[in-house]
Amino acid sequence: MTLFEGNVALVTGGSRGIGRAISLELAAQGATVIVNYLNNAQAAEDTVAAITASGGEATALQADVSDANQVNSLFKEAKTIYGALDILVNNAGITRDNIIMMMKPGDFDIVHTTNLRSCWLCCKEAARMMMRKRAGSIINITSVVGIAGNGGQTNYAASKAGIIGLTKSLAKELAPRGVRVNAIAPGFVETDMTADLSDDLKGAALEAIPLGRMGAPEDIAKAVAFLASSHASYITGQTLVVDGGMVM
Ligand code: NAP
Repeated sequence: MTLFEGNVALVTGGSRGIGRAISLELAAQGATVIVNYLNNAQAAEDTVAAITASGGEATALQADVSDANQVNSLFKEAKTIYGALDILVNNAGITRDNIIMMMKPGDFDIVHTTNLRSCWLCCKEAARMMMRKRAGSIINITSVVGIAGNGGQTNYAASKAGIIGLTKSLAKELAPRGVRVNAIAPGFVETDMTADLSDDLKGAALEAIPLGRMGAPEDIAKAVAFLASSHASYITGQTLVVDGGMVM
């Protein structure tokens, strides 16, 4: 028997990068996966096709998870198709980096609504479904930047620090109902999000990573699977740092 047999998982931004690896890993462990995405339908369909080609089950659902109405419809649709939700991974996220003197209020707002508001909205919908079952696991993808800070990312760091506070508060609220809430803080991971960083920045990041390499999306996906599983049944309210030792 696989870890997540009979479980339904929803991964926001589950179509590309870290989210795609999480979708594939949960599916490989037996979960039926709802792959949420915003714009890139082809990437979402590719992820679903990869899952089904390996004998798994998945559906792609488009929704802007920063929008309350779209999140409500997303969860309604998930419930109509699969009837339940056992695992929620709040992974969707963006950056709009700049030094504060150059950053526009709009860059702050869109990063906050996409990274933090979306997480709160999806947690609220999932909590309703999971509390009823008195079971479930929510995993929020934050960042080491939310713990250590990073010049040029005041908006992003604040949104990711907010996710850590949200995670701890919701873990306290939902623990009596049998629902666990944890966060994962990745370091530098090779995805589209980090592809445009200059060679200088990447070189400096590599020097700061004791394990001597950038993270792969699969490194994060394995940690998500652990926290979502019964192996972590006594763990809630925690932030697991997965960064090759960069921040310690
Ligand atoms: P990515 O490759 O840029 O992928 C982002 C994903 O989020 C895509 O599937 C995208 O969908 C989706 N998305 C963006 N805005 C959305 C919205 N409003 N509604 C629904 N989906 C939305 O990013 P990544 O590097 O994999 O990052 C994934 C998460 O890990 C983010 O929360 C990021 O902050 C965090 N993280 C990343 C790193 C890193 O080094 N890469 C480090 C620490 C933390 P579309 O393709 O349809 O637009």
